[in-house]
Amino acid sequence: MSLVRLDATALRADFPILEQTVHGHRLVYLDSAATSQKPVSVIDAISRFYREINANVHRGVHTLGDRATDAYEGARERVARFIGAPTRRSVIFTRNTTEAINLFARTWGRAHLRPGDEIVTTELEHHSNLVPWQMCAAATGAVLRVVPVGEDGVLDLDRLCEAIGARTKLVAVTHCSNVTGAIHDLERVVHHAHDRGALVLADTAQSAPHLPLDVAKLGVDVVAFSAHKMCGPTGIGVLWARPEILADAPPFLGGGSMIHEVWPDRSTWAEIPARLEAGTPNIADAVAFVAALDYLEGTGRAAIRAHERALVAETMARLVALPWVRVYGPADPTDRSGVVAFNVFADPRDAESLIHPHDVGTLLDARGIAIRVGNHCCQPLMRRLDVPATARASFYLYNDESDVDALIDGLHAARKTFLR
Ligand code: PLP
Repeated sequence: MSLVRLDATALRADFPILEQTVHGHRLVYLDSAATSQKPVSVIDAISRFYREINANVHRGVHTLGDRATDAYEGARERVARFIGAPTRRSVIFTRNTTEAINLFARTWGRAHLRPGDEIVTTELEHHSNLVPWQMCAAATGAVLRVVPVGEDGVLDLDRLCEAIGARTKLVAVTHCSNVTGAIHDLERVVHHAHDRGALVLADTAQSAPHLPLDVAKLGVDVVAFSAHKMCGPTGIGVLWARPEILADAPPFLGGGSMIHEVWPDRSTWAEIPARLEAGTPNIADAVAFVAALDYLEGTGRAAIRAHERALVAETMARLVALPWVRVYGPADPTDRSGVVAFNVFADPRDAESLIHPHDVGTLLDARGIAIRVGNHCCQPLMRRLDVPATARASFYLYNDESDVDALIDGLHAARKTFLR
């Protein structure tokens, strides 16, 4: 009986890029955590926008301008619905997760944090959810507390909760690690943080594409994610916060669209979301993002989750059975999204015999298999794991068991190269 719940072969037909061969082999794309592939409906939506709708938004009185504005604001509404937000007013379009977190740190952070206030984050954050808080702490005098993870790369939520105290103003934590795939119980963190008067910002870059995500149910205050990891275009991302949090947030960038009135020496600001979206936005990609969200919901978010879980369970079982592979992160596949980070050793008994993941990645690429290798923008976590880098296979709705077979065969072949 197949463990996989979606018909990945049928879904793959929606992704033209997957039809190609690489170095004479079928493309096996196992790098969706870096960026996902795009279904034809998204590609067509971009084209349709420029063919039929293109005009600037919130400006003209002409028909195309109205159409573009309706499509852009419709996209905001669609995003709100996708994440269970009660209103589109506090959905802010950004370039990506990185810009969304920086925006929040620069506006809310600088306006609200005082010397001695604390920002709590963790050692496994993507640099995008760490560096902006280092910068914010330096600018405001706030203290950044980074909760360490275990040697296995797993975050102990008790430890995170213990770090949240009376001085904590913000907890910035990833919902789902881009390295270990660990899914964190945000409801528990939120409960603990709110009891102490702190807000919770969840980096949902790796959860929005893969898990049913409902901000109201989770109770989080702020989320950030990127369209390109969830079948949408590059160049468009989302910051969402409860509207009352953004209501008095000062502007991020100054210029057109974000003002109410301008005099030569001063200006007043527009309401959100316009206040936080200066200049002409990325209209086409916001509009095409709707096609991506429709695609994910049409496929079924719970089904995507189940499908990936089955693939990860199979991959982990097969990797763990190889004594020369070390897998990082939670042992139970149900605690993970569709991500498996690992390293390959020439000699199972010798930690010094690590085959550098770049070599593993290059050898897999020669067989048409695309994985990610490197530090995954998580250098503190790499230091904790005591490795220079890891390999990472990440799955999405278009992967199936044949991709797992290809990965395992490819790893056997890669290691053999180093035994010669
Ligand atoms: N946070 C996590 C957990 C990620 O995985 C990534 C990207 O890999 C980011 C943030 C940054 O996303 P982007 O590069 O789209 O800004």
